[in-house]
Amino acid sequence: MTETNIEMTKPEDSAITSFEDLNIEYKILTALKDMGFEEPSPIQKGAIPLALAGEDIIGQAQTGTGKTAAFGIPIVQSLDEKDRHVQALVMSPTRELCIQVAEEIGKIGRTKRIRVLPVYGGQPIERQIRNLRGGVQVVIGTPGRLLDHLHRGTIKLDHVKFLVLDEADEMLDMGFIEDIETIIKQVPVDRQTMLFSATMPRPILSISKKYMRAPKLVAIHKEIVTAPTIAQYYYETRDKVDGLCRILDTTDDFKMIIFCRTKKGVDELVIALATRGYQAEGLHGDLSQSQRDRVMKKFRQNEVDILVATDVAARGLDIDNITHVVNFDVPQDPESYVHRIGRTGRAGNTGVSITFITPREFRQLKLIERTIKTKIIRGVLPTDENVLERQREQIISKMQSVLEQDNFHDYLPIVEALEKDYEISDIAAAALKFMQEGNKALETPESKSDLPDALSNTGARPGMVRLFINVGRSAKVTIRDIIQTISIEAEIPPRSIGRISMYDKFSFVEVPAESAEKVIGVMHRNTIRGYRVNMEPARARE
Ligand code: ADP
Ligand code: MG
Repeated sequence: MTETNIEMTKPEDSAITSFEDLNIEYKILTALKDMGFEEPSPIQKGAIPLALAGEDIIGQAQTGTGKTAAFGIPIVQSLDEKDRHVQALVMSPTRELCIQVAEEIGKIGRTKRIRVLPVYGGQPIERQIRNLRGGVQVVIGTPGRLLDHLHRGTIKLDHVKFLVLDEADEMLDMGFIEDIETIIKQVPVDRQTMLFSATMPRPILSISKKYMRAPKLVAIHKEIVTAPTIAQYYYETRDKVDGLCRILDTTDDFKMIIFCRTKKGVDELVIALATRGYQAEGLHGDLSQSQRDRVMKKFRQNEVDILVATDVAARGLDIDNITHVVNFDVPQDPESYVHRIGRTGRAGNTGVSITFITPREFRQLKLIERTIKTKIIRGVLPTDENVLERQREQIISKMQSVLEQDNFHDYLPIVEALEKDYEISDIAAAALKFMQEGNKALETPESKSDLPDALSNTGARPGMVRLFINVGRSAKVTIRDIIQTISIEAEIPPRSIGRISMYDKFSFVEVPAESAEKVIGVMHRNTIRGYRVNMEPARARE
């Protein structure tokens, strides 16, 4: 494609520094202030004036650079508040993104009472139809669901003045191209069209050629946004899971996204982490919409602090306060490296990126380094000693806060009673042992259970052993099925089986210590409701 009908603009050169300079109306300026937007991002500086002037636009800037407001602000400003027809149609690839865009436009339009509705698969269509009938001015939809509404005649596009293709590259990757073209053809030709995308593969340019009028290209180049606030490290190791655990054990207060290359890689890592006592959630294309929602909600609300994802599943998602991005697998190309690590170090916060490589992947890493013109620092993995040291530090700091709170006096009589026979420092050390190890600290060498090591340290309550099984909710197996099968196969009473926690792909079951070996023996390689079972002792997180 030649550049003849796409004109480049260079927002970097302009003198615009504030939203006021962009001729945005007062009502919207107030809303932007409430949203905490202080100044327009580069793509906004470039796109908003052109959009307000009625131009068709192709906007290219990487994830997290504010593309939504770049089209959202001009749309909200140009809408006729009194006209209850659909005036703006935004197509976006996933449910998550539709909701995010709808929320953002809703906020921008708050002071103007603009009615915005996301429509996507997975939500009852009747509810959407009812809302559409109520009169909605901006619709944000996935191509599939929009087509569905068009076929049912429940959405009318004949008053649409603004058409936006958001995250166009991703819609293309997901195979939506034909749906998109069908929808575009139903929108009046006399409209303004805007296309936003992180990358500009050829098919996107050809769509723009077909459906846009003399589009202006606003491209923000990567160099501008490779954040200097991200400390970038790499670790070379043959055992990436072990390396990751060492990092988790020596880092506090993190909120981490870990990228894997494949869906299978995501599942395997979530399970590997779970058996080691770290709770992580996986996100990839095989999950149902409601599973995705549940995962995202947990992660957003900090109920789980590790999200393991594929590139496609995580692309475009806007999540605040990510402290660490981990490339468990080296990204395929420098561009996706920049995309991935751009999830952290946002809004002036600092972030850390960690890339694991095997010795063979060294050249790939060097290629990334050369392309992004940034040094990725070689990190040294924490040793066992470091991990222990860290635990000690954590205990010391916890003890310090307990001491500072100064309300442990109920326990002093116990110390006084012991003081007659023991040294104070011994009493304190024994108390810490008891705190860390619980009843295990009471075992004498004779009473010590003759359980093999793997069974004695599974994080179960005293007398029990926690076992990992590779079947979970997604296998349509219930807690009852698990209890029944174990109880029948291992000939133990159902009531003796303890706590069971089920996740999507696996579960943990507590069984009495004395039956643990038998349970593993009969269950491993057995089946539950037709699913082949792997069963092994869980590993406690120390
Ligand atoms: P993109 O579509 O380019 O990936 P988004 O539009 O999702 O990026 O924006 C990423 C985040 O940045 C959002 O939380 C958004 O509210 C915020 N944001 C956008 N523009 C600004 C701005 N000018 N100032 C501060 N935050 C902004
Ligand atoms: Mg976006």
